[in-house]
Amino acid sequence: MSAGSAIARAPLFLLTALLLTAGGGAAAQTTGSISSASRTATSSWSGRSGASGDPRMSASAIRAAAAGFQGCLARLWPAAARRGVSRVVFERATRGLTPDLGIMDKLDSQPEFTKSIWDYLDILVTNARIAKGRALLEKFSDTFARAERAYGVSRYIIAAIWGVESNYGELGGDRPVLRSTATLACIGRRQRYFRAEFLATLQILQHGDVPESRLVGSWAGAFGPTQFMPTAFLRYAVDFDGDGRRDVVDSVADLIGSTANNLKKDGWRPGETWGYEVVVPADFDFMRVTDQRELTMRDWQKLGIVRAGGKSFPHPDARAFLLVPAGIQGPGFLMLHNFRVIMRYNPAEAYALAIGHLADRLRGGGAFVQAWPRYEKALSRGQRLELQELLERHGFDVGEPDGRIGARTRDAIRDYQARIDRVADGFASAGLLKRLRAQ
Ligand code: CA
Repeated sequence: MSAGSAIARAPLFLLTALLLTAGGGAAAQTTGSISSASRTATSSWSGRSGASGDPRMSASAIRAAAAGFQGCLARLWPAAARRGVSRVVFERATRGLTPDLGIMDKLDSQPEFTKSIWDYLDILVTNARIAKGRALLEKFSDTFARAERAYGVSRYIIAAIWGVESNYGELGGDRPVLRSTATLACIGRRQRYFRAEFLATLQILQHGDVPESRLVGSWAGAFGPTQFMPTAFLRYAVDFDGDGRRDVVDSVADLIGSTANNLKKDGWRPGETWGYEVVVPADFDFMRVTDQRELTMRDWQKLGIVRAGGKSFPHPDARAFLLVPAGIQGPGFLMLHNFRVIMRYNPAEAYALAIGHLADRLRGGGAFVQAWPRYEKALSRGQRLELQELLERHGFDVGEPDGRIGARTRDAIRDYQARIDRVADGFASAGLLKRLRAQ
């Protein structure tokens, strides 16, 4: 959540973890108690070098760092002391702690198969999730109203984050945050980043905001129903029920208030929505508006874009950028400032769109008007790499081929589509790959 913590919520690992539980049907409930075994349990590490090729992710480097784990933790004591962590708390937290090396596989995971955006939305915005969210909005309506007054953030967005991040607390993960962040602080390629997270975890324990037994979460250390990283907790968590502790795990008021405060501090504009589904004309000239260029709604309308469902844009002077996550065959979206704020909370387009859409559904809005191109199969990692290599061979700049379709690859696809006289929507489809292969 928030700037700098992209790793905590990046799609590569969080999505995978989420889909394993969501797809399996049997969601792992957090038990809330940590046995001593969970501090030292035998690791399920594959023993293989990481796919990133980073020297700190080689199997031998991981083994060496693991052997020096206790020494590494001991060297973090002065930094912990400077943050007000007592020797007693530090000793209790680190004594006998062993690394959870299984996390190394997650840190460098590059899944061969990924889901399409409509698959994510199908999983994250279900009738059950809408119904449960509405029930929680009803049950805690006073708290939501108080948070809206205090922070200016829509209750539906807060509830949607709660629903998307953890299915309202059911899928938050059950790895001890202390052990996960300690492991990542001492082993692997993100040690500097996770050192701050580990130290922040110690501060949380020092303050007694959340007991260690309840400080469990994703392998990257995000915890609680709205998945706070430890440093984000220190920045944003508030004691919204006034009991003296900022308990974003077990106090609904604290988690609602803290999540609202997080969005407010990230720049949420009160009274504005996140964006609109729009219809993009079939002959739309995408080459004119690349790179998330912002225009006013009025200007977008002049370019032929209309709101789906025949409604008008309530604020013609609001500025937005165009997103077509599945190309011209799928729905388009005009994204307002608050969509960027949601992206700061969770920097994955599919997640941010799911949060915005679930919020609209909780408010009583309908499903998207336009259909997704469900006949399109998401390209595998190997196919995405091949697509990039072929584009490069044909003279289009994709940067270093890495199997990820980022802004640069999308621009290269647009250039290629324009050259072969196709709609330059930047969508990496199987048809496009086939065409490139044939050239
Ligand atoms: Ca509290």
